[in-house]
Amino acid sequence: MTQILDGKLLAQTMQAEIAAKVADFTQKHGLRPGLAAVLVGENPASQVYVRNKRKACDQLGMQSWLHQLPATTSQDELLHLLAQLNTDPQVSGILVQLPLPKQIDESAIIDAVAPLKDVDGFGPVSLGLLTAGTPRFLPCTPFGIQQILVRNKIRIDGQHVVIVGRSNIVGKPLALLLMQKGDGGNATVTVCHSKTRDIAALTTQADIVVVAIGQTHFLTRDMIRPGAVVVDVGINRTPDGKLAGDVDFDAVREVASAITPVPGGIGPMTITMLLHNTLQAAILQHS
Ligand code: NAP
Repeated sequence: MTQILDGKLLAQTMQAEIAAKVADFTQKHGLRPGLAAVLVGENPASQVYVRNKRKACDQLGMQSWLHQLPATTSQDELLHLLAQLNTDPQVSGILVQLPLPKQIDESAIIDAVAPLKDVDGFGPVSLGLLTAGTPRFLPCTPFGIQQILVRNKIRIDGQHVVIVGRSNIVGKPLALLLMQKGDGGNATVTVCHSKTRDIAALTTQADIVVVAIGQTHFLTRDMIRPGAVVVDVGINRTPDGKLAGDVDFDAVREVASAITPVPGGIGPMTITMLLHNTLQAAILQHS
């Protein structure tokens, strides 16, 4: 029978573990770990993401602040705010919700977050440490994918993982993470993207297929081998307003040995790893 990898349930379990550690930290240091969220403009999806992340912080006993800036904010104004947050001792982690308006260079903003507060794991120091095999803050979605596999006792070691999508926030760091030497790694990784020829020829060879491209029901039943594990990262809106992943779930679940649903799969795991990273940031800053 196909195993449904329930990210919502695992997120609850892991958040309870994090809450206990937050309580310990708060008792020891007289200070609650805190996440500063920066939201520029009125993107409705970004507003929902930030609201959910802040709500989760509150539930776990962390502090959270929202810096809501108008869509007309200049790059200098945003850099000025980040400089303040970087030196604020109350702020353990900084989250700049992407995408940013066109007048702002995203990479300049990502670079400006203090490395010890880079809880999204997107900055050059975090990515450099991951590449070197000595990670500090892992990007939250790849980290959540690794955890859902590990905690469900799905073997990664020695397996062939095919990742469809090579973005800086999902596909690329996930490849680095799963090919690391050691626990939760040791996979042989193939990365596909929009210029890859014959993606199905690669996905049908995989033990684990991860799809992160943002295209509804891209991965069909004939694109995996029977018994493969399938991880669906996509979050797409169908014309009737429902959420759908990048995997044709109903058809693919019939042949997969395990599969993540959308919603309730990788989404809740991503938020959980952000909370984990925020606590780790507080611990690092006070060690
Ligand atoms: P992105 O930055 O737009 O990158 C998409 C990647 O997919 C690119 O590498 C692109 O290739 C590749 N691609 C696009 N169409 C393709 C096709 N037909 N065949 C093969 N490759 C194709 O997207 P992202 O930020 O990584 O997000 C991907 C999806 O995951 C989105 O639906 C997003 O909403 C979702 N997401 C979910 C979470 C979560 O927490 N669950 C977190 C982050 C993202 P090129 O590089 O060649 O253009």
